[in-house]
Amino acid sequence: MLQWYIEDAGGGCRAFSEVLVLVCEQPRRIYKRYLPLTWDNKLSMEEVARRKVLEMMREAGVSRNDRLYVCSGNIFFGLHKWLTENGYQWETAKMEGLAHEVAESIFQQQIIAAGFPADIKLEERNYRDYYRQVDAWIKEDPARAKYIKDMKVRCKPDHTRYLLKGNAGSARTCSRCRKKIMPYSPIVHYRFREQGKKKSRFFHPGCSPVKPHKNKLHQVHIHWRGQELQGVVLPAREPLPCMVCGREVPAGTRAVYACRDKEIVFGHPACFEHTGKNNGNA
Ligand SMILES: [Zn+2]
Ligand SMILES: [Zn+2]
Repeated sequence: MLQWYIEDAGGGCRAFSEVLVLVCEQPRRIYKRYLPLTWDNKLSMEEVARRKVLEMMREAGVSRNDRLYVCSGNIFFGLHKWLTENGYQWETAKMEGLAHEVAESIFQQQIIAAGFPADIKLEERNYRDYYRQVDAWIKEDPARAKYIKDMKVRCKPDHTRYLLKGNAGSARTCSRCRKKIMPYSPIVHYRFREQGKKKSRFFHPGCSPVKPHKNKLHQVHIHWRGQELQGVVLPAREPLPCMVCGREVPAGTRAVYACRDKEIVFGHPACFEHTGKNNGNA
């Protein structure tokens, strides 16, 4: 059983290819790949990175008996998913050792080979300073613009991380229009990682930058006390009596939720069915 480390370098720099490495400390083995500055197909950066890492894993003969430690960065999100789905033993880890050193040094060698002064080095992980100097160096000469990365293909959102669903009981703020997304209305949930932390963004369906990959939205139109309301079907948070039949809706079972002014309308989907036109899955 071998222990492999997967790390990247250069992701924060506006120029030069990101470096991906697959490293084993004992016995010492090092594999590396570069991300192209641009690519013209429809792949997300995560997908391009995943393919590069898989190439290295094949070349290195990494097996399911080995243990993999993978940097938790966004760029490896697609890889994380793939490793889980394919039964590899892996976990995210903060890279301190050889993998980190190797990745950084390969990234810097690339910059130096282009003519950047070799005496300017990354110090104490102060990437911002280092990348700012690389940036300044690029601006000195228009011919160096060829080293600038295509940020557009890199920012291409991964639609698999967008989910259309019914909002639960709290209002959210839309990341695009900054307006409120009301409770129990359709919402797009975008999940991503930033510096290893799981984060979320929310959008109105019309504000979402991409068409969500998954649709868990179940919208209903109901009539309640003379009013037509739009609601959603969600698993009940807590057992509460149905407002139509008075019997309890057990927690975790499907329940209709809608807002009527400040009041929450709640109950069995079947009980509301005869109150209005039920649209089923939107
Ligand atoms: Zn919006
Ligand atoms: Zn009921």
